[in-house]
Amino acid sequence: MWRRKSCGPLKTARCRVSADSLPAPPVYTALAARTGLARSKTIHMSTLRVELGSRSYPILIGGGLLARADLLSQHLPGPDVLLVTNTTVGPLYVGAIKNGLSARRIVEVTLPDGESHKTLATVSRVWDVLVANRFARDCTVLALGGGVVGDMAGFAAACYQRGVAYVQVPTTLLAQVDSSVGGKTGVNHPGGKNLIGAFHQPVAVIADTDTLKTLPARELRAGLAEVIKYGLISDGALFAWLEHNIEKLLAHDPEALAHVIRRSCEIKASIVGRDERETGDRALLNLGHTFGHALESATGYTKWLHGEAVGAGLLMAATMSREAGLIEAEVVERLRKLLVRTGLPTEEREVPANTALENMRIDKKVKSGRIRLVLLRSIGESFVTADYSDAALQRTLEAHLG
Ligand code: NAD
Ligand code: MG
Repeated sequence: MWRRKSCGPLKTARCRVSADSLPAPPVYTALAARTGLARSKTIHMSTLRVELGSRSYPILIGGGLLARADLLSQHLPGPDVLLVTNTTVGPLYVGAIKNGLSARRIVEVTLPDGESHKTLATVSRVWDVLVANRFARDCTVLALGGGVVGDMAGFAAACYQRGVAYVQVPTTLLAQVDSSVGGKTGVNHPGGKNLIGAFHQPVAVIADTDTLKTLPARELRAGLAEVIKYGLISDGALFAWLEHNIEKLLAHDPEALAHVIRRSCEIKASIVGRDERETGDRALLNLGHTFGHALESATGYTKWLHGEAVGAGLLMAATMSREAGLIEAEVVERLRKLLVRTGLPTEEREVPANTALENMRIDKKVKSGRIRLVLLRSIGESFVTADYSDAALQRTLEAHLG
C-alpha cells in the first residue's frame, strides 16, 4: 500500500509492505537469514527529502533497512565503497551491509570508539586507506555508526579529492534524529569541540530503527533529549506526544521510535532547507546547547554525554525564558518532569555557575563578545537573542549549578 502525503515544504512518501502478502525477493530473504537482522513481519518505511536544490537527498527511516540490498545499492553511487565504522558497531552490522553490496568493491576502515578519537589524526587514517586503495572521485564513503563516526566519515569525504559522495547509516538515536542530517561534518581540536570541519551534505541517510535494539539505554535517553528539543523549538504537539508516550520510547517500541525519528528529521530537514549554513533559523537547533556545551567542557567531556548535557541545557534555557518573563513557571515544570521521566539528569552541582559562564563565553556561537541564546516564547516557539539581562543569566546558572 502506498500513500503520499505533502507536509509543508517536505514531501513524505510512506511505504508499507506486508511481507506476508508480497513475495519477498529471494536475495532479501537469504540476507536476512544470514545477517541475523530480524526481518520484520511488516516493514514500514518513510522517506523524507532534504530540499537543497541539486544537493537534495532522501532520508529513509524504517525497521530492517540494512537487510534491504536494493535500498543500499540504489543510494550508493559509484563502483567503490569505503565503509567507515568503529570497533563497537562494525561487528554488529558490517556483515549486513557487505552482504547487501556484494557487487561493489568494499574496503572497510574500523576506527577506535569514542569522542576522544574524533580527531584529525583518526580522519587521516581514513584518507590513508582511500589513497592506498586508489579510490577515485566516483567512490562513496559509507558512515556506519553514531555521530562520531558520521562526523568523521563525512569530513573525510568532504576533503578527499575535494569532495566525494557519502551516505549516512546512523545507528544511534542521536545520529538518526540529528547528526546524520544537515551536512555538518568535522572533528575536535585540543582547543575546542567541532572546531575543524566542513559543510558537506550526504547523498542519502538510511536510518534502520532495528539497530537501536543494541544501543545502550543511556545512549537512547541522550538521543531523546534532542527529540524533546525539536518539540520545544517548533512543535508543541510533538512535545505533548512525548509526554504521553515517553515510556514506549524507553521500552524501544518500534512504531513510537519511528514516529519521533520521522518527526525530528522533518523538523531538521525543514530548517536546514531554509538555512543550510546557519545564518538564521538553523541556530534554533542550538536550544539548550550553549548551556549544555558549558557543562560538557567544564567536566572535561567525560562525565556528561552530549544529549544528557543538552537535556540539562534545555531546562536552563527554559528557566532563563521564565526569568525573562517569556513563559510561566508551569512550563518549566512540565519540561523538568518530562526530562526526569526520560531518565535524564537535570543539574550539575560540581560545576560553579561562574565556571559555566566562562565556558559559555568561549563557545563558537558567541558574536561580538555577546553570548547568543535560544529562548522560548512557549512550548513549540523559540527565537535567538542577545538581548537579555546578565543578572537573569547569572540567576539561571545558579539555579542549576553548584
Ligand atoms: P557516538 O557516535 O559516540 O555513539 C555512542 C556510543 O554508542 C558509541 O560507543 C558507539 O560505538 C555506540 N553505538 C553506536 N551505535 C550503536 C548500536 N546500534 N548498538 C550499540 N552501540 C552503538 O555518539 P552519538 O551520540 O551518536 O554522537 C555524538 C557525536 O555527534 C558528537 O561528536 C557530536 O559532536 C556529534 N554531533 C554532530 C551533529 C552534526 O550535525 N553533525 C549533531 C549532533 C551531534
Ligand atoms: Mg546536539
